[in-house]
Amino acid sequence: MGSTKKVLLVFLPSESGVDGAKSLYKENEGNAIFSWFNRSLRTVIKQSQFAIPPLSLMILSSIQVDGIEQTLCDMRFDEFPFDSQWDLVGISVQTGMARKALDLAATLRSRGITVALGGAHVTLFPDACRDHADVLVQGEAEDLWKEVLSDLKTGNLKPLYRSETFPDLSLTRPVSKSMLVKKRYFTTNLIQTGRGCPHNCDFCNVHVLNGHNLRKRNIPDVVSEVDRFRREDRRIFFFVDDSINADPEYAIELFRRLIPLNIRWFGQATTTLGQQHELLETFARSGCCALLVGIESIEPKSRSAHRKNQNRATELAGAIKNIRNAGISLYGSFIYGLDGDTLDTPSAILDFIDDTKLDVPGINILRPIPGTRVFDRLREEGRLLFDPLDITAYRYTFGQELLYSPKNIPLDDFIESYSELTRKIFSVTNAIARGMAAPSAKTAVMLFNLFYTHLYGLSRKDLQFQKSRDPQEKSILPYAE
Ligand code: SF4
Repeated sequence: MGSTKKVLLVFLPSESGVDGAKSLYKENEGNAIFSWFNRSLRTVIKQSQFAIPPLSLMILSSIQVDGIEQTLCDMRFDEFPFDSQWDLVGISVQTGMARKALDLAATLRSRGITVALGGAHVTLFPDACRDHADVLVQGEAEDLWKEVLSDLKTGNLKPLYRSETFPDLSLTRPVSKSMLVKKRYFTTNLIQTGRGCPHNCDFCNVHVLNGHNLRKRNIPDVVSEVDRFRREDRRIFFFVDDSINADPEYAIELFRRLIPLNIRWFGQATTTLGQQHELLETFARSGCCALLVGIESIEPKSRSAHRKNQNRATELAGAIKNIRNAGISLYGSFIYGLDGDTLDTPSAILDFIDDTKLDVPGINILRPIPGTRVFDRLREEGRLLFDPLDITAYRYTFGQELLYSPKNIPLDDFIESYSELTRKIFSVTNAIARGMAAPSAKTAVMLFNLFYTHLYGLSRKDLQFQKSRDPQEKSILPYAE
């Protein structure tokens, strides 16, 4: 028997948003006091437990292979542990953080450390990642990672691990939280009941990465995981499924069985839930206190241009009111700048928020993620403002830059109207009012609105910077280092 092999799983922070507010440009850091304020706020955001643990790495670190010891490094909190010896480092690569991940891989490999890259970006663009790693893991990784660890043990690592089929989620695979430092996170109670999405929204990569078929875990496995997790951490649960109401029969049975466990939970759903009365009632009885719903657009033309077909625009307001009336607070996510939007869209969004009393409005700019249909279309139409061949140019920001030219609105007008919209929606007064009016989770609703008041301020500043540049040079700039 050889000695134990040591494996480190790494999760990287994004450049902005919930991992800390940061301007994209040095020029916008402002004077010493403003920059000190932003740095302090970044620390507060990090320490106020908005962060949730990386579920994919929790799943991988729960895989047991004799002779292998796995450790998790969340670089939102920890520096890379260069002082230890690692037989293999696995890095989860998200498209928005690809540059950072590839840079880290290069540093590690230059020190002779074997690097495995996996995650969404590797799954979508294996060719672009091949030269940056010793091992690529392409696709949903639970079965593949076990093979990687077994091969590491025997000294037979292969350059590529890839499966033609999605993992069977109905197999029992208990997830362990033992590697998490509990106090760092908003909650450690993350549960996934299934993967895949039957819908086709063209700006989304969920159906591209996880397929159109809903693959569900066995209900008894989920119930026992919830029961075990709540003994380890009494805080709220987060059901991370992209659409927890996608299979209503499954969801009714699962959440009925969770009622006796007396948990409080939040998750993500489609607005169709407002018409699924039995399910809505079951959610409320099982402790659901807040849901994120993707409204995306209230413009029928935009909904059909981007294949957002789950609910008609005319039904949205009624659906949202039904969900709030059931005692569940709502985070409603909009995208402004879709192909059917005009300069009249912002006032329609404002009226909609006013009418529905949405608790936390999220006002996003369309982000053409490489690997999605909308990315390909915008590239073909010559509307991308970044080099589509530079896969590291796309990055996560908090509404801080426009990555494409809107169809019906000149870029400068779009920036003005978007800034005006977020200025009207987010203020300290509105944050307090929304918190007080929320049907549940009042403090969280108020904090989110306050947090967004700051972040959208940053977004306006950075967008103005993009607007002020020479018309020929409105394309995006590299990050301030
Ligand atoms: S946006 Fe939501 S509903 Fe649309 S494809 Fe993505 S996960 Fe499915």
